[in-house]
Amino acid sequence: MLKSWNRREFLWGVSQSALALLVMGRASGQVVAASKPTSVLVLGAGLSGLYTALLLEAKGLSVTVLEARDRVGGRVHTLDDIPGKPEAGAQALSERYRRLLALAERLQVPTEPSLGLDKESLLYIRGQAVLPKDWAISAANHLAKSEHSLLPQELLSHYLRKHNPLENANAWIKSKYSDIDIPLDKYLRAQGASNEALRLIDFNPASLFNSINTTSALWALRNDQRAQTRSQHPMHIQSGNSRLPEKMAASLKSPVQLNKVVESIRSQATGVKVYCSNGSKFDADYAVVTLPFSVLRQVEITPPLPKIQAQAVQELPYTAVTQIRFQVGHPFWETDGYPPMMWTDSLLESVLPVRDKQGWVQSLVSWATGTNAKQLDAMSADTLTKYVTSELTRIRPGTEENVEILHVVSWGRDPYALGAYSHFAPGQIRRFQDKMAKPWQRIHFAGEHTAIASGGMESALESGERVSSEILARIGLLSPQAQAP
Ligand SMILES: Cc1cc2nc3c(=O)[nH]c(=O)nc-3n(C[C@H](O)[C@H](O)[C@H](O)COP(=O)(O)OP(=O)(O)OC[C@H]3O[C@@H](n4cnc5c(N)ncnc54)[C@H](O)[C@@H]3O)c2cc1C
Repeated sequence: MLKSWNRREFLWGVSQSALALLVMGRASGQVVAASKPTSVLVLGAGLSGLYTALLLEAKGLSVTVLEARDRVGGRVHTLDDIPGKPEAGAQALSERYRRLLALAERLQVPTEPSLGLDKESLLYIRGQAVLPKDWAISAANHLAKSEHSLLPQELLSHYLRKHNPLENANAWIKSKYSDIDIPLDKYLRAQGASNEALRLIDFNPASLFNSINTTSALWALRNDQRAQTRSQHPMHIQSGNSRLPEKMAASLKSPVQLNKVVESIRSQATGVKVYCSNGSKFDADYAVVTLPFSVLRQVEITPPLPKIQAQAVQELPYTAVTQIRFQVGHPFWETDGYPPMMWTDSLLESVLPVRDKQGWVQSLVSWATGTNAKQLDAMSADTLTKYVTSELTRIRPGTEENVEILHVVSWGRDPYALGAYSHFAPGQIRRFQDKMAKPWQRIHFAGEHTAIASGGMESALESGERVSSEILARIGLLSPQAQAP
């Protein structure tokens, strides 16, 4: 049972480490002058922006959050109008999300276990349906002999794990690893991956990048290092992950300003000015930019960012993800005897059942990434419907006239995300990583793309912790040595 919450307790106890950083601020005499607290504009009301705002408010700063959408949460988005309330963005967290769990507890936003993915899936490769137990001897298996017994979804981790040199979650930023900041396909080939293995790896939605030839091997190894200590306890926020950012926003002193599409940011000697597409203008002492770089590319920053940082904003790749949700008439898997989940080498990539708490299938979602998602994104709504239904019929004849598209989410085409997650192209970790989130004049940067040690939602919070301590140090409320790593 949680003890009853009051604002003051919450704001001083958001997370243990943030709290530690905050209380290391100087004596209370230095807390922001009562007459005019330092003001901060936080751009973006995703988890990183909202968390930054909460932490800065806790130290008495005056914070205004500007958000382009008509909702908060950004890439955390529960589809409340679809049966089963599926998640379009962040799916799950785990017991390893230290900051997020502390925050959820403080805000009295309950979590509950997730069912996780089904154990069994049907493979559909090179036009043939194959059960995993038959894969090693299937005619559809064109892998090299040494790879024959590996399922397509196991290939990437098999080759990454072979000689992963990264000793912990922070190691990937060390300069001694820059010699593996090379194209992933080249690295995998050197580890012995066959051409067919490389082809199949690009159909894996769990890979989190666009394609193996445009991704840094070091980045993939970083993801693999984390996966080795992956939690056994997936969970989500009860009633939908969006409930967390909603409660964070409701806990702020000033309501988030919605429908404010930031178009330009000016840093001047005395403060920052932010201009929005609807003509509104905001002033503050500092700005924290949490927009994904994919979107920030379109925002004018004055004076212009230093060269390398500007290049990072322009070039950092974001993974396209397109999800197509289907309503199913009768459960075709009970008729054909195959599992409902499918792993395919079609543009649809994987098809996953969305189950309710009792385990009943509510809907199906096809989840495509990278170049496959981009091809789906290029289709008109009509063409997409025809294409997807005929592909499903080809893969699983029982779906014919038995599925209806309920909803399509394209993160690649979402104007305020332009991709699902950031990653690094070959050579970019070396060039960008230690420079891309550096404060520029009165502008500071946060967001998942700027985090080091954590991933997903937790990375957004990690970045909020780092940026808030940067600002507090700047105004004398925190010694620079006490800043988060
Ligand atoms: C499909 C998908 C699956 C995922 N699965 C998981 C998972 O299972 N577990 C996990 O931990 N994480 C997962 N994630 C990642 C997680 O959702 C993100 O890392 C996290 O939510 C990012 O938070 P953020 O604050 O950095 O960015 P965002 O949430 O993108 O916040 C940025 C905000 O800026 C706003 N914005 C953009 N442009 C402008 C503008 N011009 N003016 C004003 N505001 C603007 C956006 O609308 C947004 O609200 C997933 C993400 C996606 C897309």
